[in-house]
Amino acid sequence: MNIRPLLCTLAAAAGLAGTLAATPAFAGPGPGHEHSALRAEERLKQGIYRAWFPDLATARKAAISLHGQLLEAEYAKGYLVLELDGADIARLATFGFRIEPDTDFIARRNAFLDQIDAAERKPGARAGIQSIPSFACYETVEETFAAAQAFTVSNPALANWIDAGNSWQKTRGTGGYDMGVLKLTNSAVAGPKPKLFISSAIHAREYATAPLVLEFARWLVTGHGTNADATWILDHHEVHLMLQANPDGRKKAEAGASWRKNINSAYCGRSTSSRGADLNRNFTFAWNSTNGDGSSGNACNDTYRGPTAGSEPETQAVEAYIRNLWPDRRGPLLGDAAPADTSGIHLDIHSYSQLVLWPWGSVADAAPNGAALQTLGRRFAFFNGYTPMQSIGLYPTDGTSDGPSYGELGVPAFTFELGTSFFQSCDDFNNTIKPNNLPALIYAAKVLRTPYLTPGGPDVSALALAGDASGAGVAAGTPVLLSAAVTDTRFNQSNGSEPVQAITGASAWIDVPPWSAGAVAIPLNAADGSFSSSTEAVSGTLATGGLASGKHIVFVRGTDASGQAGPVSAVFLNIAGGPPPITLALTATPRFGSQFWVDLAWGGASGANVDIIRNGVLATSTANDGAYRESRQRGTWRYKVCQSGSTTACSAEMSISF
Ligand SMILES: [Zn+2]
Repeated sequence: MNIRPLLCTLAAAAGLAGTLAATPAFAGPGPGHEHSALRAEERLKQGIYRAWFPDLATARKAAISLHGQLLEAEYAKGYLVLELDGADIARLATFGFRIEPDTDFIARRNAFLDQIDAAERKPGARAGIQSIPSFACYETVEETFAAAQAFTVSNPALANWIDAGNSWQKTRGTGGYDMGVLKLTNSAVAGPKPKLFISSAIHAREYATAPLVLEFARWLVTGHGTNADATWILDHHEVHLMLQANPDGRKKAEAGASWRKNINSAYCGRSTSSRGADLNRNFTFAWNSTNGDGSSGNACNDTYRGPTAGSEPETQAVEAYIRNLWPDRRGPLLGDAAPADTSGIHLDIHSYSQLVLWPWGSVADAAPNGAALQTLGRRFAFFNGYTPMQSIGLYPTDGTSDGPSYGELGVPAFTFELGTSFFQSCDDFNNTIKPNNLPALIYAAKVLRTPYLTPGGPDVSALALAGDASGAGVAAGTPVLLSAAVTDTRFNQSNGSEPVQAITGASAWIDVPPWSAGAVAIPLNAADGSFSSSTEAVSGTLATGGLASGKHIVFVRGTDASGQAGPVSAVFLNIAGGPPPITLALTATPRFGSQFWVDLAWGGASGANVDIIRNGVLATSTANDGAYRESRQRGTWRYKVCQSGSTTACSAEMSISF
């Protein structure tokens, strides 16, 4: 039985045991009892059907409309597995589905529930499941939060943990969770910066969603300083991750329940596993706007929309966070387009159906920014291989999470439907879902400055510097050969076709990205002598005279015949030799009240004096004796030490919080 190291180990390792904000609370005689009761109830669910579809397009539309009842999407085998009632069955039959009870799925589900029961009965097992047997790759709610909060300890300059509200259970004062957001950006680089918001696991049982987004956070944080793309993304952009958008419900799903909604006991009955509201039908924009087609008014239904628009605390937290993140760039009418230069992207990560979806889902009309949404959707789908389409199903959905972001504010919003199954195996997650979807998330993080424009431009790949320029480094003044491929062909063309243009040029920039003041473009050449096709090998020589020793970033960007530049890709350029870099360490000691002593200790500077830069501003010049102390109020402070009069011969900027 596969019970992996639990929260306490993880939290203790990160020194976080005391800082975890929330612990789950359970009614009744204990979590073990409640969880086994939940599983007993799960075993009673027999209304599970294999729905053989008439064609793929209809299958994908059914997967959208019936997302709440979808257990598996087996497109290659010709069927979906769904929880259905008599009305659903009759309705699906009118769309050409052939429906039969799925005894195979029920048997597999029962075996899975047995496995969890056995794990709980095992001598020495904890009271209550912390991790899901056979699904060791999926972090629990507590493990997700501990891992996210650990970044704020290991990388305080890059990571912040924000309390965006309370789960329903927490509003009742009986346990529950904070609606935590992991904000990632390099605080040493001043904003304002374009913002990416990703929410996941709003439907509790969609196991693979939060773990994918947590993996993206790891890629960004561990990549800052070691991967040039992760570095510039965090330097120049902000990434906000609400990893667990339905933590109360997720806890039920971790115990083996096929739980989707929140756990609000005001709906359907206090103790039934059918209780709660579908948070992804509870958003205020277009709430209950489709005459009951796109959400249910029955409190026991899996798509129950809640009694009023935005009635649930989790929905309120997501909406408030989104409205605080971006300005309103869209007019009040359904047909009002957001301006082409609108900034930001919202991704809501769901699972099972291998789709990339964009608004509208509540009406069949294309959204006013529909063409640009489609272009970006086809870029995402190039990476993850899913089918890109507007999110209108067999019939509409309403009150969904893209309402506040796109419907209200005009920020492009997408729903990813990962994978094929509720019981998605860790092999599938590690071998397919993670490697295919991480590049899609990275693409989103790259284009979010102008997401309605940049995806029209070409992509840069295979970017490299010759020799040791990205490794041990070259002496300043050494010419460095750069090579890359620029292509406009990276679209998923499986559902319609996106126009592809010839590449017309490409350029490189050193340290200052093309959108910043003072950027200097270095033109690159087509390797075959002329820019003429939709994929071009490019190269150029970088002059490195005058570059300070240390690590530099080289940005590369291409343009196509539409006149549109694509996203930048980057590579490190290391200049070796010269004076050794300045090192800096910070410590804080309580002084009195909210006053602290901050001690700076540095080495490697030359000259009689150094400049102390605090929060990006010259604080003082002081003797170059390796130590400086000053008193500061409680808060977060950033320091660097520079050679006297220099703004480039400096230590790395360090941050300290107390
Ligand atoms: Zn979902």
